[in-house]
Amino acid sequence: MANIAFIGLGNMGGPMAANLVKAGHKVTAFDLVEASKNQARSDGAAIADSAAAAVKGADTVITMLPAGKHVISVWTDVIPSMARGALIIDCSTIDVESAKAAHALAAKHGMASVDAPVSGGTGGAKGATLTFMCGGDDKAFAAAKPVLENMGKKLVHCGAAGAGQAAKICNNMILAISMIGVGEAFSLAEKLGLSHQALFDVASTSSGQCWALTSYCPVPGPVPTSPANNGYKPGFASALMVKDLTLAQDAAKAAGAATPLGKHAQEIYKAFDAAGNGGVDFSGIIQHVRSLAGK
Ligand code: NAD
Repeated sequence: MANIAFIGLGNMGGPMAANLVKAGHKVTAFDLVEASKNQARSDGAAIADSAAAAVKGADTVITMLPAGKHVISVWTDVIPSMARGALIIDCSTIDVESAKAAHALAAKHGMASVDAPVSGGTGGAKGATLTFMCGGDDKAFAAAKPVLENMGKKLVHCGAAGAGQAAKICNNMILAISMIGVGEAFSLAEKLGLSHQALFDVASTSSGQCWALTSYCPVPGPVPTSPANNGYKPGFASALMVKDLTLAQDAAKAAGAATPLGKHAQEIYKAFDAAGNGGVDFSGIIQHVRSLAGK
């Protein structure tokens, strides 16, 4: 049984902390929002008065926060209160530069650290089936592994500090581009009088095959579990896709990489979001694609 501090009990962090309690760990949690703390308390976590108080005596500290500035602020606050030899893991999706700066803060105080952003959404957080993409040295990854395994089913050690965040934004850039591509193909098929099922049956077994088509089909019917069958209720909200595409564009600029389709995907998702669809599942982008016809 480990002694774990968990900071950031939102849509993802709340159920992740609950899974650590279920696995038999002692969890001390903190969030700024009263309702999130109450939920964590009823899930079996102890609630601390502050983030710095939560980490006292913990062998592992986990943060699950909105963005890089929150992670830097919380890590700056808690690291001086952590026990010697403790490990700190950030599971938020943040920019690569902030992730590296957070690792540097930990290293300055002699703490092991891992960036471990996730994929799998709130369903994966609840069901402990997340995928963790990890960055950090071998020793830190080895220490993080048994803790993360209580919240997910797949862990990949992607490389040194920041490599987990790099993998996350590259993956989501592929996903955004391929979802728009699949949406365009169905929109064209509709205009050509080709049924959704016929296009699915061909493309899912041909070279057009991809996850956006076969696991998350953006039209109702072919994949019964996809959000298209449920009014495009997320799933993974378009506002979060805009966030990840923006992180990818920032990283591409900083690193001098050319990502023309990633840039275009960001513009398309931003327009969808600005039209009031930030809370719509990202596969709903097919509606935006259809609305562009004739423009
Ligand atoms: P959320 O907004 O529901 O939760 C964030 C929590 O952090 C909130 O409860 C907030 O009160 C808390 N917080 C903010 N500043 C704090 C501070 N200084 N001290 C303590 N608590 C603080 O967000 P979420 O959906 O849980 O996402 C968390 C992270 O995971 C984000 O980086 C997001 O991009 C990423 N992510 C989300 C999903 C998803 O489907 N929701 C999927 C993959 C990755």
